[in-house]
Amino acid sequence: MPTRPLWPTRRDLLKTTGGAVAASLLAANARAEPSPDKPATQPAGKLIGIQIGAVSFVDEGVARVLDTVQERAHVNAVFLAVFTYGRGIGGRQVPGQPLPDHGKQEYDLDFHGGNFATPHPEFYQDTVLKDLKAPDHGRLDILEAVLPEASKRGVRIFCWAEDVWRGNLPGIEKVQEVDLEGRRLNSLCLRNPDYRHFLDGLTRDYATSYPVAGLMWGSERQGPLNNALGASHGGGGDPTRVGCFCEFCREEARQRGISTDRAIAGYRQLAGFVQSARKGERPRDGHFVQFWRTLVEYPELLAWEKLWSDGQHEAYALIHSAAKSVRRDVQVGFHIWHLNSFSPFWRAEQDYARLAEHADFFKAVMYNNCGGPRFANYIRNVHRTFFGDLEPEEALRFHYRVLGYDEKGLEDLPSGGLSADYVFRETLRAKEGVAGGAAVYPGIDVDIPTGKDEKKTTPDDVREAVKAAFKGGADGIILSRKYSEMRLDNLSGAGRGLREADIVSR
Ligand SMILES: [Zn+2]
Repeated sequence: MPTRPLWPTRRDLLKTTGGAVAASLLAANARAEPSPDKPATQPAGKLIGIQIGAVSFVDEGVARVLDTVQERAHVNAVFLAVFTYGRGIGGRQVPGQPLPDHGKQEYDLDFHGGNFATPHPEFYQDTVLKDLKAPDHGRLDILEAVLPEASKRGVRIFCWAEDVWRGNLPGIEKVQEVDLEGRRLNSLCLRNPDYRHFLDGLTRDYATSYPVAGLMWGSERQGPLNNALGASHGGGGDPTRVGCFCEFCREEARQRGISTDRAIAGYRQLAGFVQSARKGERPRDGHFVQFWRTLVEYPELLAWEKLWSDGQHEAYALIHSAAKSVRRDVQVGFHIWHLNSFSPFWRAEQDYARLAEHADFFKAVMYNNCGGPRFANYIRNVHRTFFGDLEPEEALRFHYRVLGYDEKGLEDLPSGGLSADYVFRETLRAKEGVAGGAAVYPGIDVDIPTGKDEKKTTPDDVREAVKAAFKGGADGIILSRKYSEMRLDNLSGAGRGLREADIVSR
C-alpha cells in the first residue's frame, strides 16, 4: 500500500477542491511552509486562556465578563465559541446540572447554534453549507461585540470552532457520513469536498473579516474501527453505524488499493463479534483472540481506520493553510479530544510531532475531575468488547500502565477523579511530543458537568491542576469547557495556582 503524506498534496487539492479554492490553497501552501520566523509569531509570556460562549457576553455584558475572568484568573486570551451546534461550548449550563453563581439563572432549552459571528457569503460559494448564522441572539455578531473591549484590555481573542453539527440544516445530507449499510450518519465526512470548502471558507472568513489573534478547531471524533469497538468514554454505540463509506472515501480507498467490499465484510464481521460480546457471550478462544483473528482476516479494518484518521488530519492541514494564506501571524491550533487520555488506540493516531507540522498550538484536553468518571466509562465500554477476558480492574490497570499513569482503582475513580499528577504527566508527554514544533496549552477542567455522586470541581483541584500543567512545561493553559458552567470560586482557584507557580505576580 503506498504511503501518503499527512497533508493534502497538490493532486489531492486539484481533485477535491474547486478551481478558485484550489488555487488559493496551493498559493497558501507555498507561503505556509515552516519558516524560521514561526517562533517570532508566538506571543510573549504564558497564555492564560478561557473558553466562553456568546451567551455569557449577552447575559452578563462584555466588560463584566472580562472583568471577572481577568480579576479572578488573570486571563489574557479568550477562546470565543464562534462556530458550533453544541451546547457543550456554546450554550448555558447543561439542563439538569446546577446553574453557577453568575449569569442568567435559567437554562437555554432553545439553544440552536451555528455561526455566532457573521457569515460573509463570498467565503461559502463552493459549499452547500452557506448561511449558517446562529439564530440564538438575532443579528448580533459576537466578534464585533467583544473584540473592541478585549483589544482595549490587551486580551487576545481566538475563534473557537468545533466539528459538531445538527441534522436538520439545508443541504446537510449531501455532506453527512455514510455507514457500512449505506445509511446517513449525523457526523459530516471530512473528505467530502463540500465540507472541506466550508472549513476553508470559515477559516478564511474569520481570519480576513476580524482582527483575531488566532483560531482553534476541535473534532472530537474517531474512525470506524475504534467506534465499532465502542472504544470511547461516551455511549457504546451501534457497531454497524460506523463510517465513512461515502463515494469520496471509497474513491480514496481505491487510490490506496483497499477493497471497499472487503472492508465492509470485515466491519460486518466485527459488528457481529461486538454484538454477541455485549450480550455476554464468550467466543470459543476468548474476546481478544477473536478480535485479533478478525483483524488478521480483514486487514482492511485497520486500513479504513487509517483512511478516516488521515482525513481528519488533512482537515487540520487545510485549516492551517487557509488561515496562513490570509495572515501569517494568525495563530492556528487544535483541540485534542479527551479520549487521548484513555484510549491507547486513539492516542496512537495522534502523533504530536506530525500534527505540529500544521499547528502553532495544541489545546490538549487534560480534564482531571471529569476524567475520573469518563475513564471509568471507557473501561466499562472496552470491557464489554475486546477486553472482555479481563476483570474491569485489570483492564484499568493495563491502561494505566500502557498510558503512563498511576491513578485510583475503579471503585473510587468516578467519585475521586484523576489527580493533578495526571495533568503533569500528560503535559510533559505533549511537550516532548511536539518537540518545540508547537505550543502546548493544557485544557484545565473547571466544573465540567458530571453525574450524580461523581467528582465535582473544587478550587484546590483547579489550583493544583494549573500548577501541574506549568510544572510539566506548559506554554499556557485554557480553562474549559465554558465560563457559563464555572463557579466563581473555582475560577479563582486558577488565579491562585498561577500566582503560586509564579506565572503572574502575586
Ligand atoms: Zn466519506
